[in-house]
Amino acid sequence: MKSGFISIIGRPNVGKSTFLNQVIGKKIAIMSSKPQTTRNKIAGILTTDDYQIIFTDTPGIHKPVNELGKRMTEAAYQSTRGVDGIIFMVNFKEPISTGEEMIIENLKKTRTPIFLVINKIDLAKNKDDIIKKIAEYKDLLNFKGIYPISALDGSNIGELIKGLLEVLEEGPMYYPKDMVTDHPERFLIGEIIREKVLLLTKEEIPHSVAVTIESLKKNDDGLLECYANIYVERDSQKKIIIGSKGAMLKQIGTLARKEINNILGEKIYLELWVKVKADWRNSNVVLKSLGYDLDNY
Ligand code: GDP
Ligand code: MG
Repeated sequence: MKSGFISIIGRPNVGKSTFLNQVIGKKIAIMSSKPQTTRNKIAGILTTDDYQIIFTDTPGIHKPVNELGKRMTEAAYQSTRGVDGIIFMVNFKEPISTGEEMIIENLKKTRTPIFLVINKIDLAKNKDDIIKKIAEYKDLLNFKGIYPISALDGSNIGELIKGLLEVLEEGPMYYPKDMVTDHPERFLIGEIIREKVLLLTKEEIPHSVAVTIESLKKNDDGLLECYANIYVERDSQKKIIIGSKGAMLKQIGTLARKEINNILGEKIYLELWVKVKADWRNSNVVLKSLGYDLDNY
């Protein structure tokens, strides 16, 4: 059994989500938020009898790289550490952009094998165009392999998987074969906190309260560390939830923590913040962190 982690990097719209859907299909366990051992978010797991490939996401390159600047590229670089391979995905239809140049610059520092994946070749008029595209990229980095594919119709994806398997070593199954995550931990934790808010504040707090998980990760001691925001619509509600000298918030945290410990079987450090956002239901930021963002990678 071979197994390992492959990180996917690429500018928005190059086809990362489409690729994951195509390659993993119905077997996908899309986990936008599963805490894990690597720094990366897991985007999907491909398990067969012979191998398990865990595709991870690189959060730093979600937005146009030029906006994010040096710090984010550094963060993205960090997230490619500790993986067995990197897929650098580009769009066949587009010329090399500054975004790509920055990613390339950044990848020069890594020793991890890099697979250049030129996606959307179904849009190519002929083979020569694809060959030209390969030529544009091939000397920019020391690629382990170059794979023109179509994430849309699946062409050449099998070859890419074969290539990825070459850099994976014998290893354990990191995740159960049939892992399906209808209930990502992030969502579960948010719901438990929300439930405690409603339970303890009774009618004073309307159901319009929302809980977002700002960060969820295992720290070095193996403790799950969670920072969550409780959104309410008015200042008066914020006061109620915090309570006198923070007593109410403390109680919410205690009850939530106990239940999360029970359900997940893991100890959790929980930090809660109360925020007022009059119109949170129309806030992209809040909606996104609630998981209503289907375009996560
Ligand atoms: P992401 O932002 O990198 O995740 O990109 P998406 O997977 O969301 O794809 C962006 C757009 O490109 C969508 O409209 C896809 O349908 C389209 N797309 C992705 N892969 C292909 C492909 O192989 N061929 C074509 N023609 N379109 C593709
Ligand atoms: Mg996407």
